[in-house]
Amino acid sequence: MTSSNQALFEKSQQLIPGGVNSPVRAFRSVGGTPIFFKKGLGSKLWDVDGKEYIDYINSWGPMIVGHAHPDVIGAVQAVAANSLSFGAPTGLELEMAALINKLVPSMEQVRLVSSGTEATMSAIRVARGFTGRNKLVKFEGCYHGHSDALLVKAGSGLLTFGEPSSAGVPAEVAAHTLTLEYNNTQQLKELFAKAGDEIACVIIEPVVGNMNLIVPHMEFLQTLRELCTQHGTVLIFDEVMTGFRVHLGGAQALYGIKPDMTTLGKVIGGGLPVGAFGGRKDIMQCLAPLGAVYQAGTLSGNPVAVTAGLETLKLIQVPEFHAKLAAKTKKLVDGLVAAAKEAGVVFSAQSVGGMFGLYFSEQCPTSFAEIMQSNKDNFNLFFHSMLESGIYLGPSAFEAGFVSAAHTDADIALTLAAAKKAFAAVAAR
Ligand code: PMP
Repeated sequence: MTSSNQALFEKSQQLIPGGVNSPVRAFRSVGGTPIFFKKGLGSKLWDVDGKEYIDYINSWGPMIVGHAHPDVIGAVQAVAANSLSFGAPTGLELEMAALINKLVPSMEQVRLVSSGTEATMSAIRVARGFTGRNKLVKFEGCYHGHSDALLVKAGSGLLTFGEPSSAGVPAEVAAHTLTLEYNNTQQLKELFAKAGDEIACVIIEPVVGNMNLIVPHMEFLQTLRELCTQHGTVLIFDEVMTGFRVHLGGAQALYGIKPDMTTLGKVIGGGLPVGAFGGRKDIMQCLAPLGAVYQAGTLSGNPVAVTAGLETLKLIQVPEFHAKLAAKTKKLVDGLVAAAKEAGVVFSAQSVGGMFGLYFSEQCPTSFAEIMQSNKDNFNLFFHSMLESGIYLGPSAFEAGFVSAAHTDADIALTLAAAKKAFAAVAAR
């Protein structure tokens, strides 16, 4: 590691807990010094020491058209010149609401917020207000942001640090959160048979990206939909990560299942802070100023952030955008599997749209228990070898990866060449 990164990290740790503003960035689980970046363009990043990387984090999902896309940057600059914020309605918010409704029709009404955390926190509040019930169901290893009720057996950074639940969450709050195993249909049926009529909502990542990538079984999702309908429980698809990424219409369009509510983030802001929650009109009408469920935000619907999102959403509506993105991501994944096989390394990988999962295990995991069996030491070795070769992957065995429209065949070829070296290092371990 070169000195500028090192120096920045050392100084940052004096002033910022762990030196970072979001835990996974700290490289704790893989070891080493986090990279401090100064520039991104298309699929590439440059760190403060001038080293170039091919980026497979994409700011954890938002940069689906690549970094510093000229249309996005140009539109943001133009809108910024008219003030950064009004705290009052603008036509841009209406444009965004109409576009969300067009692309994700289950979102009959929508409200904009500034992060995925706010979107999920607000969605569960509305679901509780609408049903008059308290209990909420989530799945082990799914991450829905850092609000109290959702930090129970959660994924992403919590898994990375081996602490799936957070200190500081009162037991009384956590007691209302019931956690089930992902893809376990039997458990779901048993819980609903016992307590279905007390459950306000079920929140789920319809494709999980926060315990690495886990694909849902269709039967599991369909049963979930049916049980929620039978019991008057609000089904919330947390599409903060999958929205506009696995399909233009999100995972709900990919699998043909209509949730009652949806939460969005990441791509919807194109790299600036935007989140959204929405769904059935009768549920959304419970929100203030119409109803008794309170939710608000000084910067909600911020014109500059919404513009970055609108421009990004325009770019991803071009014909074949998602088919091409999915094909590119699959090409990467297939190449990695082949390279691992050649090196004799136990490895599997898969992709859904522009999201991918890499696992140092025989088969792609389908549950939290299975993902925990994968070889973390091999991942860490692989990660560092790739980083050295200028390939920037998520610094944890429990995160999904992201490909953007800006990634080229040459990028993928370079990545596979680096992987060949990395797998050889793993094989020699
Ligand atoms: N839900 C999901 C599925 C996520 O992946 C994330 C963030 N990774 C969140 C919610 C929280 O979003 P944010 O970090 O914008 O608060």
